[in-house]
Amino acid sequence: MRSLAFLLLLIAAPLVAQPALDIEPYRVAADRIIEAALADSAAFERLAEMVDAYPRRLSGSVMLEESIDWMLAEMSADGFENVRGEEVMVPHWVRGEESVTLIEPRREELAMLGIGNSVGTPPEGITAEVLVVGSFEELEARRTEAEGKIVLFNVPFTTYGETVQYRTRGANEAARYGAVASMLRSVGPVSLQTPHTGMLRYEEGLAQIPHAALTIEGAEFLQRLADRGERIVVTLKMEAQMLPDAVSRNAIGELVGREHPDEIVVIGGHIDSWDVGQGAMDDAGGVVVTWEAVRLLKALGLRPRRTIRVVGWTNEENGLAGGNAYRDAYADDLDNHILAAEIDGGVFAPLGLGVTASDAAFALVEPIGELMRPVLEEGAPGITRGGGGADIGPLMREGVPGAGFRVVGDTYFWYHHTEADTLDKLDANEVQRCVAAMAIFAYVVAEMPERLPR
Ligand SMILES: [Zn+2]
Repeated sequence: MRSLAFLLLLIAAPLVAQPALDIEPYRVAADRIIEAALADSAAFERLAEMVDAYPRRLSGSVMLEESIDWMLAEMSADGFENVRGEEVMVPHWVRGEESVTLIEPRREELAMLGIGNSVGTPPEGITAEVLVVGSFEELEARRTEAEGKIVLFNVPFTTYGETVQYRTRGANEAARYGAVASMLRSVGPVSLQTPHTGMLRYEEGLAQIPHAALTIEGAEFLQRLADRGERIVVTLKMEAQMLPDAVSRNAIGELVGREHPDEIVVIGGHIDSWDVGQGAMDDAGGVVVTWEAVRLLKALGLRPRRTIRVVGWTNEENGLAGGNAYRDAYADDLDNHILAAEIDGGVFAPLGLGVTASDAAFALVEPIGELMRPVLEEGAPGITRGGGGADIGPLMREGVPGAGFRVVGDTYFWYHHTEADTLDKLDANEVQRCVAAMAIFAYVVAEMPERLPR
């Protein structure tokens, strides 16, 4: 038995062992960070202040720009260095008034949200019979029935990546077969009559038809009517329109490194949100937690060797213009981007970070998980392989190591892109634990003697 176990160990061992980071020199700093983060609820209170004053931060809105002004002023007051807003042109989509009214078999208003980037309807709306389908395959099989109708995709949530296809390209598939508009069951596992918005992408060469989300309750109701063979007619009204691009900004502040100020560890979230709810978990929480992590390091006198740069990216939700513009602005400086980390999956109880990097770099950062252990959820994996974020995606595609912050996310998609993404769903202690974990990770990566290899 012993020799077999030894053999398995040999097989499991990597071909070339990568040196791990000795975390002992960082343990005192990590413990101080944890103590300070849990001593009050400063981050949670700042998050509350932000979302109560600046909800509905959609690209092109005055609210988004006011939230950026506020963040820049607050970072300056916190003593951040090189605080600046870097201008970016962003899409400017506006929702306007909108409704779905059931006309046959009887009249009833249905809760709905238009999908971001959708075209609107004529002022009188589009009134048409509804074809309910459960998948793209069913639509294709019944394509001769789609002409002149409003297609409703009633597709239960499996994973976000799978189900979101009906939001991003449902209108294209419906238009392909002559539908005049399309609707989908909201992308989420649970609903209290909460429709979910989000963005779509029109495919070139197809008619652009309006696309809107019903609630799970509404979609199942129409499904039952269809199953009974009833004729369903609705009127869809949407004033949605795309205006000319608007000026926005990536909001940036730094803790400049004491030895290698030109080497940058980027951490951040996106400051824009949908035009519903407060965007508290998507993604004011990510912005405030990364910002507070650096404010805490400053307050503790922990200035690492390298610069930690906090970025509140703009326009993640309906264009990714902020993330792309950041990469373009620093195109000549990407070699000095040591790592980029993003929080954009909610700020619930922290699990650690998923890191996309070479074996050598991963071996160095993996032990940092042990320093975070006291604030992580029990049994959390700490630092795991694979992870990133939409805003840092452009950097990662240029070879910058990336990391995505991970939390207990069971409820995230209940609220995602709805009126219910509000502060009360978050917990002050969990938010403070996220700050501690993020601060420890950023500090150690910025402080370790050797720069992280590619
Ligand atoms: Zn987000």
